[in-house]
Amino acid sequence: MPLLEMNSLNVRFPTKAGVVIASDQVSLKVEPGQTLCLAGESGCGKSIVALSIMRLLPSTARVSGEIRWMGQDLLSLPESRMRQIRGKEISMIFEQPARCLNPVIKAGEQIAEAVVVHDRCSRKEARKKAVEMMEQVGIPDPEKRFHQYPHEFSGGMIQRVMIAMALVSRPQLLIADEPTTALDITIQHQMVELLVALSDRFGTAVFLITHDLGVAARLADTAAVMYAGSIIETGSFRQVLETPRHPYTRALIGAASNQWAPSIPGTVPELSCLPDGCRFHPRCSQATDICRHQMPGMCHGVRCHLNPERDISGLNGAQDEPEYKISSRR
Ligand code: SF4
Repeated sequence: MPLLEMNSLNVRFPTKAGVVIASDQVSLKVEPGQTLCLAGESGCGKSIVALSIMRLLPSTARVSGEIRWMGQDLLSLPESRMRQIRGKEISMIFEQPARCLNPVIKAGEQIAEAVVVHDRCSRKEARKKAVEMMEQVGIPDPEKRFHQYPHEFSGGMIQRVMIAMALVSRPQLLIADEPTTALDITIQHQMVELLVALSDRFGTAVFLITHDLGVAARLADTAAVMYAGSIIETGSFRQVLETPRHPYTRALIGAASNQWAPSIPGTVPELSCLPDGCRFHPRCSQATDICRHQMPGMCHGVRCHLNPERDISGLNGAQDEPEYKISSRR
């Protein structure tokens, strides 16, 4: 059984400007001990998927579909059970770790608090576990650093504190939302190596959210590429990176490998004003007439009318989901 499974996850935000379609028919799986990378440009809805899993979306969100955690439907669990799952079974680290720590509480005490909440042990034992965890994430002199406040740590060290807090209760799944974006390039590499080492040591599955496929290369087993609220390609990370089949995935990889012109022509559409048909068509050099009117269904892991596997197997029965017209007013 997958550890985490999402089936047709839809997240909508009704606003005065229209309905924001942040997640549309998203289906993903994370297997035990494996790393799934969810890649895509900023603003495509990746973080909304993560917050849906943790049930941390604003109350205005309209969520439908299914999120199964070890067989349990997360969307229908009582909040008391979700509080047990958050931090103990599923943990999350964020792009801006400094904002997640309380500036007036010592860093070590914040890690120890996570132990007290989830492991119900004495404060003395929790402090011991916190110091051990600080050592495991590579914070030098952890006994001394335990007593320091967040502002006394560098950006890289703060992210290590967040990783320690996330892993101290040995969750089965770590959601890492752009964990290296706010760090210097040299520190980014160290952080990726740390996540690889810790996920191996503890057997933790990782749901890595990133716009940087280079960050994912050391970690990911499988990949899903997201564009404008939809998954447009899935597969093994290696297959997606080495033989991308969707024009957007190819553009994303091309942009990442071209340091002189690291961009894809055009702009990501507003999630409140999505184009009809394939959402990538205004930026796609291969778009044809059908692309402008009909949203392609996911077929053999690719959502594109030009996917050759669709032609081989025909449109009936071979698709993972039917084609449908999309309207931003849904
Ligand atoms: Fe491009 Fe059409 Fe494929 Fe969309 S469906 S990616 S517009 S070729």
